[in-house]
Amino acid sequence: ETLDKGLEKTQRGLLDRLSHAIAGKSTIDDDVLDNLEEVFVTSDVGVDTTLRIIDRIQKRVARDKYVGSAELNRLLCEEIADMLAENSNESSQDDFTVPASHKPHVIMVVGVNGVGKTTTIGKMAAQFKKAGNKVMLGAADTFRAAAIEQLEEWGRRADVPVIKQKLGADPASVAFDTLQSAIANNADVVIIDTAGRLHNKKGLMDELTKVKNVMQKLVPEAPHEILLVLDGSTGQNAFEQARQFVAATQVNELAITKLDGTAKGGVVIGISDQFKIPVKYIGLGEGIEDLQVFHKREFVESLFG
Ligand code: GDP
Repeated sequence: ETLDKGLEKTQRGLLDRLSHAIAGKSTIDDDVLDNLEEVFVTSDVGVDTTLRIIDRIQKRVARDKYVGSAELNRLLCEEIADMLAENSNESSQDDFTVPASHKPHVIMVVGVNGVGKTTTIGKMAAQFKKAGNKVMLGAADTFRAAAIEQLEEWGRRADVPVIKQKLGADPASVAFDTLQSAIANNADVVIIDTAGRLHNKKGLMDELTKVKNVMQKLVPEAPHEILLVLDGSTGQNAFEQARQFVAATQVNELAITKLDGTAKGGVVIGISDQFKIPVKYIGLGEGIEDLQVFHKREFVESLFG
């Protein structure tokens, strides 16, 4: 399966270290718990989330009285999945359908350069289209020529139109054009690539507020979603970026990319636990098909084999 294959490196690293953590032990005792703590902290899960996991395992072991070490993976799988389920809601909107209540549905995408923003937009466009939606993209990252060109390239690949202006144009004006065109063409979903740069908090807020205000002249509820893209292979940096963007914008969902090339996939568990914002998509490769809707339980099951 794509998920298992994409998470291979993370899975291998984790399972290897878990088997070391229980080596020579028949039960999950305090030593094992200490070892587990180290495994998770060094797997980019993050300290807070690690402590929550250890606490749950400890309670579970106490409650079940005797837990053989061979059952550790199953226990971790259950406890981590339950822990994540208690947090943010999982997106109910599966399979790239869009709400029927309004049209166009507007998704604004933010994130720093290089995290895989354009690639994610291209993959989303392809999947929304495949699901039967009329899709339109807006190249409102007007700051770099390459950003506009790359989005156009993805537009060709996904076979969806891209609305653009020239390099250096006002992002708000591009967003306005895109919505106008989407309305005229009866599009179901619009994805706006923004130059949501983290030069500083105020700059970012001002820029996004302006884009938002202009869009709302045409679609009062826009944007319906603000998606922050994070590079999973950067581990703790992804946490830090999430913190900064969440403080500066009304991000309401996350995409975590590049999980295929890294052993740092534990970052998804940490981010999903720490932020009350749902992880909606995960990126598992460079190809147009390599984006999946994130399901907590399925993800955790894939990691613990
Ligand atoms: P942007 O600057 O944020 O728009 O980033 P791009 O979309 O241009 O992506 C930067 C690089 O990351 C490109 O080489 C992409 O092919 C690569 N990339 C994006 N998503 C993924 C992913 O899920 N897996 C892998 N392996 N590479 C990815």
